Amino acid sequence: MQKFYFGMETLRVTQDYNGATSHYHHSHGTPADYPIDCAGVDGRQSAYFAPVDMKVVAIRGVGNYVTNTIWLETVEAVETPTFTDTVWLTLTHWNDGSITAKFKVGDIIKAGEIIAYEGTDGAAANHLHITCGRGHCDNWTQNTAAAWVMTGTSYPPEQVMYLNDDFTKVVDSASLVFQSMPKEEVTPVAKTKRVRVTNGLYLMKLDNSGTLFVMPHNATVTVLQENYTTAKGYSMDKVEYNGTVGMCANQYLE
Ligand SMILES: [Zn+2]
Repeated sequence: MQKFYFGMETLRVTQDYNGATSHYHHSHGTPADYPIDCAGVDGRQSAYFAPVDMKVVAIRGVGNYVTNTIWLETVEAVETPTFTDTVWLTLTHWNDGSITAKFKVGDIIKAGEIIAYEGTDGAAANHLHITCGRGHCDNWTQNTAAAWVMTGTSYPPEQVMYLNDDFTKVVDSASLVFQSMPKEEVTPVAKTKRVRVTNGLYLMKLDNSGTLFVMPHNATVTVLQENYTTAKGYSMDKVEYNGTVGMCANQYLE
């Protein structure tokens, strides 16, 4: 079963769910949700990637005064730090015309695809307002503290999302303590694949800290572990080439 993890390459929480700026009334009314504000790389519009296949359940706010929000849920049950079930996720503040404009309700966003970029729709600075929970959610409502909260069963993000250490760099997790995503059990495979891109394929260091070199078109690699990790939205195989072990995007192998 797949595990559910935080979908940005940089974790920089600018307000946790108890934050006095605006979130306190979310987490201290009825119903409650537990939003975090994330601004990945300072000054940029960082992307939020789908960690697993996710279905678009609702989109509200495009072109009107309501703050742009997309509701998604996992296509299948996933494993989280505290439960196994379908997970819902919302992203708010992306701008009209951003990549989310290409999605409509009912679409499946594949694992590794970008859902949305940070934006300023209804916000003073680039960020995403993120909520999540268990089961199904497709709307919001005003709670007893007058905050607009999600109608589904909400959980604090660290109870729903692992942190994928191969994917996300932590800059500031505020008061939140995320669990690292456990690595998959290794099933040894003894097979070879070939590089099928004409321009060659980068062999990356196993910790994704940089590039080793380019493996030429048609090079034969020994696959040590399939789907070793995800990085930059790609699924990576752990491979050996000419005595060097690294990882590469497995969609370019055959
Ligand atoms: Zn917020």
